[in-house]
Amino acid sequence: SSKYTKKINGPYGNQELDINLIRKDFPILQKRVNGKPLVWLDNSATTQKPNCVIKAIDNYYSEYNSNIHRGAHTLAKIATEAYEGAREKIRSFINADSCEEIIFVRGTTEAINLVAETFGDDKIQKEDEIIISVMEHHSNIVPWQKLAQKKGAIIKVVPIDDCGEIIMEEYAKLLTSRTKIVAITHLSNVLGTINPIKKMIEMAHHIDVPVLIDGAQSIPHIGVNVKELDADFFVFSGHKIYAPTGIGVLYGKKAILEEMTPWQRGGGMIKDVNFETTTYNDLPYKFEAGTGNIADAIGLGEAIAYINNIGIERVQLHEKKLTSYAMDQLSQIPSIRLIGTSSNKSSVLSYILEGVTPEDVAKFLNNDGIAVRAGHHCAQPVLKRYGLNSAVRASIGIYNTIEEINALVGSTLKIARY
Ligand code: PLP
Repeated sequence: SSKYTKKINGPYGNQELDINLIRKDFPILQKRVNGKPLVWLDNSATTQKPNCVIKAIDNYYSEYNSNIHRGAHTLAKIATEAYEGAREKIRSFINADSCEEIIFVRGTTEAINLVAETFGDDKIQKEDEIIISVMEHHSNIVPWQKLAQKKGAIIKVVPIDDCGEIIMEEYAKLLTSRTKIVAITHLSNVLGTINPIKKMIEMAHHIDVPVLIDGAQSIPHIGVNVKELDADFFVFSGHKIYAPTGIGVLYGKKAILEEMTPWQRGGGMIKDVNFETTTYNDLPYKFEAGTGNIADAIGLGEAIAYINNIGIERVQLHEKKLTSYAMDQLSQIPSIRLIGTSSNKSSVLSYILEGVTPEDVAKFLNNDGIAVRAGHHCAQPVLKRYGLNSAVRASIGIYNTIEEINALVGSTLKIARY
């Protein structure tokens, strides 16, 4: 048990998270919007931040602001320890072998660009193939597209079925001797589908193809164990897991990272420089050129400690149950079309209402204090797969409650009737 569990006879048994206690840690959740209590259901876009994260950032700037790794004074030492401490928290959270495998970046987008422009650029040649899926976020499409155009390589797209699951037989067919990398999302930001990535990695490795997992959406919802998954790269953004924006992580297997050439060049990533040659620094610093986002890396470490304190398995259970409840309730609205109906999904509820634009639905919901997203969610190909350009997306986080799902369903029903 943890401070955040309570014994009650609730709908999910007698041991569940005390969500009201969790909610007290998030100051923004006390806000009212348009005269109504804020219902934050835009968690796939970004999550709210608990007090411990806000305080960690404040504390860094007010108590020990300093650059890291190079100063020989007290504050530099404290800042360096806090920054490296955050790296260790992340390593342990995803069960990486060593901190050398944890590289701080701005976020998922930057991490994928880094891999495409270094590893991809080295390994991919004319007519080689890059496998992605139809449900990828633009961040896991466009960098590969740029690489493919530069090299004359080919993007192969794994299709999905109507409920939003990867068609594994098609994936198997696409894996050939021409495949040089697979880049797949762990959890779709439009469908909520949790992909069978362990199996997909196994299949790719069977023919020696490395795999990058886009963990932007899975990291706050599912326990991730990079060693058990045997992922070659696993990338995520801090702001999706209750940490600040502008900080994220590239995990890579040490042997692969060691072979890779650096991406950006400058201070911090070197050991020795003269005007003719440079000796690069060891991992992970080889990939961290320039002064990083120190405060927010520390904030990310704090967010991960916060989730650990609650327990990611409990988070996962709470959110899966809320998701099933919401899907069940929403499906009873007569004019609704739910997008992404896999039984193996979590936290993302996408839908359209017949005769009302998603943008109008979002506006109506906003009048009731409910924050959702309407649009293409930076994943146009998957919406097109369903014949759509836009959808409403409500997305669940750790602090959401049954009452908030009821508010979403009630307001959506009101719009449908109206
Ligand atoms: N991949 C997925 C699946 C996402 O949902 C997102 C953000 O919504 C990204 C990548 C990009 O993340 P960021 O904008 O933090 O780099």
